[in-house]
Parts: sequence; C-alpha cells; structure tokens
Amino acid sequence: MTRSPDPRDYDLDGLRVRVMAEHGGTVDDSIPQLAAADPDLCGLALVLTDGTLLASAQADVRFSVQSAVKPFLFALALLDTRGDALDLIGIEPTGEAFDAIKLETGTGRPPNPMVNAGALLTAALVDGDDVEARNDRILRGLSAFAAQDLEVDEGVARSEHLLGDRNHALAHLMRAEGTLGVGADDAVAVYARACAVLVDARALAVMGATLACGGVNPVSGERVVPADVARDVVSVMATCGVYDGSGRWMRGVGIPAKSSVSGGIVLSTPGVLGGAVISPPLDEQGTSVRGRLACEALSAELDLHVFGSLAA
Ligand code: GLU
Repeated sequence: MTRSPDPRDYDLDGLRVRVMAEHGGTVDDSIPQLAAADPDLCGLALVLTDGTLLASAQADVRFSVQSAVKPFLFALALLDTRGDALDLIGIEPTGEAFDAIKLETGTGRPPNPMVNAGALLTAALVDGDDVEARNDRILRGLSAFAAQDLEVDEGVARSEHLLGDRNHALAHLMRAEGTLGVGADDAVAVYARACAVLVDARALAVMGATLACGGVNPVSGERVVPADVARDVVSVMATCGVYDGSGRWMRGVGIPAKSSVSGGIVLSTPGVLGGAVISPPLDEQGTSVRGRLACEALSAELDLHVFGSLAA
C-alpha cells in the first residue's frame, strides 16, 4: 500500500494555475457587491492539524463568507443551546436550492442547518437578548474559529438585509409555524450580518481545520467547541453542505464541505486538514466552478476522499 502524499509538499500555486484555465460559471448577482466580484480571483489554502498553513497566491484576498458561515453558525447554536438545536432543526438533505421556501413536513422545522431556513434559525439561537448581542456573539465565535479578529462588510450586510426577500419570507414562515422565537426582521438582520463577515482563504481554512481537529483551533490551541459539536457539524456538511449537489460532491470530491454564493468553499477532513478555496464563478447549484475542480484535484492527489482510497 502506498503512503498518502504529504500535503506539505503539495504545489497549491500549481493547482491554482491549472484551475485558472477553466472559465465556466457565472458570478452571483443577488447583491451589487457580489456582482462586482472579480471572476479571475482564485485563492486556495490548507491548514493541517498541527497548524501548518499552506497558501496559494490570492489566499489573502478578502471576500464575504456568505453560506460558508452556516456550519459555524450551527456549531455556535449547538454550543449555546447545549444541543437543543438538534431538536429544533432537521438534518436531512433537501434536494432543493439553498433558499427554497420550504420547511420540514409535519414539524415546521427548517430541513437542515446548511440551507437558508436552517441558518436563519441557528443565527437566532446563539446567545444574546437582542440583535446587537447576537451579532457580537457570532463575530466573536467566528473569530475564535479563525484564530483572528474578523470584520463585517457593513455594505454587504445592509444589501443582504434589504434585498433578501426570500430570507424574509422564510423567517415569516417559521414565525407562522412557531419555530422561530425571535422577530422575523431581527432574524434576517443577524443572518445577513453573519453572511457579510469578511474572510480570506487562509482564515476560512483555519475555520475548517478547527472542525477537523474536533473543535480545537490548531493555530491558537483554543477549544472553540466540544468534539461532539464538531462531529455533528461535519456530518451535516457531508450530507447537506453543497445543497442539491451534495450527493455528486460526496461521490466526486468526498470531503465534507460548505459552498457559498461568493464562490468560497470551506473543507473539513476530520483528523487530516481543513481547507478553503475562493473563486466567484458558480455552477447551477451555487458551487464555485474552479472551487469544485480544485477540490476534486486535492482529493485525488492528496488521497483525501473520506470513503476510501483509490491509491494502489
Ligand atoms: N447570503 C446568501 C443568501 O442568504 C447566502 C447564500 C449562499 O451563499 O449560498 O441568499
């Protein structure tokens, strides 16, 4: 049996050049700030369990985290509710788009924490008596995952809040079902601000690595969430993280991940590494086109598929 290749020797800049040859996909235009993203931005980073960081060119270019924040909102909600979030949100894949106006049949719960309904609820479940307190809690929590003080793009937060009609609809629907305990507009405001947190591929890779290390940040050494929380989060990333493309993703890439409309993808392979890719052009399911190619290559070339090796 061959030994798995050492990620320390991996040529991330070479991979970046290879995926830059791909020009498919469309940049999201749901808000002006995302529509203005550079389609040629492409950055990659990996963080190993000993805290070693590997980064390509442009891994230090910041972008709004968007839905790549959802695993971490779920983690904070699990932590702050001492696991009760698991009774309040489903964990089944939907086979539908990220913003489908649909709740779980029979219970009125959001189907899972990786679609918008679920993330609106997880953002509402974190500790804090009002919008400002929950915003602070989330920013502090995300910063602990990233081992650095993160900031919010206030313009993106405002646009998301103002233009997120489907998120307002989902929040009202959950109010009607009795599953959202805070005001609908407050829920959208907190979720919108969480989506507007700025990261670069390096910071997002550290966040993924914290989940991969059972909740201990490998850079700061801080225990951010308990091991059972990290395991629950990565499990749901594996089944629901790429929306209605999650099955194809797990077969082809085989690394638990969360995609986002900004073109970021966060990766977490328990016990091995965390990673992140940013490249704004998206496929029909909202996954970064170059991000997918890069993750397929990483999986194959570093032997990262969680369901088995094809190495001889
Ligand atoms: N902020 C976006 C929304 O709620 C996030 C969606 C995504 O990244 O997939 O519409």
